[in-house]
Amino acid sequence: MRPVLKPALSRLWREKQTLQFGTVRRHARLVEDVDRALASFLELIDGSRDGPALIAAGQRLGLDPEYCEAMLDSLARSELLDDAAAAQQALAGRPQPRREMLVPDLASLSLVHPAPGEAAAVLQGRARARVEVRGAGRVGAAVGAVLAAGGIGDVALVDRGRVAARDVSPAGFPPTEIGRLRATSGREVVHRAAGTAAGERYRRSPASPPPPALVVLAPRDGTGAFTGAAVEAQELMRAGIPHLYTGVLEHLGVVGPLVVPGASACGSCATLARRDEDEAWPRLLAQLIDGGPGRARVPACDSALATSVAGLAALHVELYLDGVLPPSVDGWCEVSAADGMTRRLRLRSHPDCGCLWQSVTAGRAGTMA
Ligand SMILES: [Zn+2]
Repeated sequence: MRPVLKPALSRLWREKQTLQFGTVRRHARLVEDVDRALASFLELIDGSRDGPALIAAGQRLGLDPEYCEAMLDSLARSELLDDAAAAQQALAGRPQPRREMLVPDLASLSLVHPAPGEAAAVLQGRARARVEVRGAGRVGAAVGAVLAAGGIGDVALVDRGRVAARDVSPAGFPPTEIGRLRATSGREVVHRAAGTAAGERYRRSPASPPPPALVVLAPRDGTGAFTGAAVEAQELMRAGIPHLYTGVLEHLGVVGPLVVPGASACGSCATLARRDEDEAWPRLLAQLIDGGPGRARVPACDSALATSVAGLAALHVELYLDGVLPPSVDGWCEVSAADGMTRRLRLRSHPDCGCLWQSVTAGRAGTMA
């Protein structure tokens, strides 16, 4: 371990001898009675020395070894220290510019996963994860790009047909991709977002890739978020693969539910809950799915809303894979183009569904304890 004061935290003097680490008040930590020798010692905790070397350097500043050791312990307990060696290892082996692109993400992880070396372990976990995004419209393509940018090692953007003008978004397909195959262009979108250099492969996919750690269901017309993408979802339930519904329908963006088969409410639970509120829902639903005649002639999809939803969906996926329960588990989040508000709605497992009783083959990664 090579201790480093977390580079993600600002260092602000509250007054002459009180140093505040971090700006967000809730998480800020104070170090008091900072005289010149201690200030110099803190400057030395930059990740270039291990513990014994730091204590020796402190001695040269006139500080007792016991004092230096106690100070390092105290800084670690206050979640101010990270392990520079672990961070370096987590980024090693990735070519530039990918390595540097991930530095701010790793810095953010060091605040969310505060123990020394923990953020590096989380980033390495992301690098091993495979996520499949089904549906490459405004939302799906952007979800794939954001996940790849966040360090997910293998992102597969799955869709058929060719990129249409309405699929274009600033975080997904650029306008130059209109008319190209969604599968080919989707692969390139993911590679670009991951910072893969021209001619370099983002990841060598094996002939038969392992099952994904999570599947994002993001059908282009947005109805998947409401229809529960029935058949696909049943297969994922049977295989025990966690999956997240997301999309934009009319003026509403939806993220969730994120279904952990056998452990949280599923897409059918959501459909049944809607039936309880509106008895005509099953009939309406039948007209929406499979290209039904009742669908909107021009599906609405606000660009800013789609980008927000894609970012939020990618964040929930990463939280789940990182071992944190996102609010889309046993619930869903709605973002409205009408007022810009985000709401979280609760989803209970429905008594008529029985999904929590299904036997479960645990997912390969990201399975919750
Ligand atoms: Zn269910």
